[in-house]
Amino acid sequence: MAPARYAVFGQPIAHSLSPRIHAAFGAQFGMAIDYRAIEAGRGDFAAALDAFAHGGGLGANVTLPLKEDAPLLCASSSERAQRCGSVNTLIRDGDRWHGDSTDGIGLLRDLARQARDPRDARVLLLGAGGAARAAAFALAEAGARELLISNRTPARARSLADSLGARAGTWEALAQESPFDLIVNATSAGHADAPLDLPRTLIASSTVCYDLSYGHAARSFLDWARANGAVRAVDGLGMLVEQAAESFSLWHRRRPHTEPVHAMLRARP
Ligand code: NAP
Repeated sequence: MAPARYAVFGQPIAHSLSPRIHAAFGAQFGMAIDYRAIEAGRGDFAAALDAFAHGGGLGANVTLPLKEDAPLLCASSSERAQRCGSVNTLIRDGDRWHGDSTDGIGLLRDLARQARDPRDARVLLLGAGGAARAAAFALAEAGARELLISNRTPARARSLADSLGARAGTWEALAQESPFDLIVNATSAGHADAPLDLPRTLIASSTVCYDLSYGHAARSFLDWARANGAVRAVDGLGMLVEQAAESFSLWHRRRPHTEPVHAMLRARP
């Protein structure tokens, strides 16, 4: 019998690490996982997902720029996906899709592994897109003492902050803020080589900076963090593995070990 099919949809997607991550998780259980990267933009995502389902697709991840479109293609969704209005995991349920969001739990797990527990922290979240929404709800639920959300389009930050009882601030007003315990960059600016213009006064010697992106896309924010004395500057590769482990558990009802996969990715050339 052919293995069940899984995939990640996004644009661009060719360099996605998700197929390697899911193959490594499957190997822990002796399972051959057919998990592919499928290129789809906002205009052709619905048709591509439909074709995938007809070809035997049982589960999918959704990434940039499709996370806020994915809920519209789901017949049902988990409580956490509904709360944050973002879906990154699709689970085939008969002839329908069920949506879930594993980004928030993935972020919290990786913060706990290698950065900082957000409990009681004063947190600045940059961005208000799909991943930022999941991050904001997770940070609030994890007990952040204060959450300030700032976004290039201020209305989106306001709407997200209002839904959480958090604070929204414009990019310009960040210069008036005192340093934060934790700064989370959930914008996609690094993918467009558009450095964020952030005041250095946001950072104190105990500030931890975390970028959801990794590789080249995270470089400018992490360089800014290190140059201004952040105690830790961490990219989102760990979150990628942790959110993938949560998706894997939803599809296969087995929890993979993540540490060997973290090590495998850090060791890659
Ligand atoms: P998205 O829904 O498209 O949101 C993009 C966000 O970035 C929006 O807030 C947007 O602001 C902002 N932005 C884009 N270009 C900008 C610029 N030049 N300057 C300032 N802000 C800018 O994307 P997403 O799905 O949330 O993904 C966001 C990032 O998180 C991506 O880098 C993605 O790779 C990363 N991510 C990583 C993981 C992981 O597991 N490590 C998981 C999910 C996402 P506007 O509202 O003004 O457009």
